[in-house]
Amino acid sequence: MEQIVTYLSAEQIAERVKALAAEIQRDYEGKRPVLVIVLKGSFVFAADLIRAIDLPSLRVDFLAVRSYEGTESSGVVQIVNDLSRPIEEEDVILVEDIVDTGLTINYLLDLLQTRKPKTLKVCALLHKPARSRVAVPIDYLGFTIEDRFVIGYGLDFGEKYRGLPFLGVLQRA
Ligand code: 5GP
Repeated sequence: MEQIVTYLSAEQIAERVKALAAEIQRDYEGKRPVLVIVLKGSFVFAADLIRAIDLPSLRVDFLAVRSYEGTESSGVVQIVNDLSRPIEEEDVILVEDIVDTGLTINYLLDLLQTRKPKTLKVCALLHKPARSRVAVPIDYLGFTIEDRFVIGYGLDFGEKYRGLPFLGVLQRA
């Protein structure tokens, strides 16, 4: 039997997301940034984030990438669904749920750079430095976490648990 143990509570997450939103709002005052939300895992984080950023011209777009099978990185990043519009000369903020090995975000940054945005920043809810394989610049970071496989708040384990309102870890009971 496995049980879910809270790793970061809904309240802890909400407080941190508000702080990140305030930083973004301050840095992009008077601009029209595009949040590029990396599906599927980031959709819950992004939904909370945009509702806390008071910038009327903020836009969103989505990139769907194929993620892990189970808990291990396949090392292969595949774009399942591309952006709906060009990002040339735009102020882009890439929104990720978690930077683990860094391979996904590294690949996406390289890809988006070729489309010549004016600026390109990264906003990630979680970072697991213990598993880092490539250095990734994270401009807005929610939490640095230990080497644990977390679920909930949009993050899955085999497509399950995305709807949990908090971040948890699975433990054998
Ligand atoms: P990376 O390419 O940085 O190793 O992995 C990024 C992706 O792997 C994330 O967007 C996420 O989909 C998945 N991932 C990495 N660590 C975790 C984790 O602890 N829990 C879950 N649910 N997914 C993870």
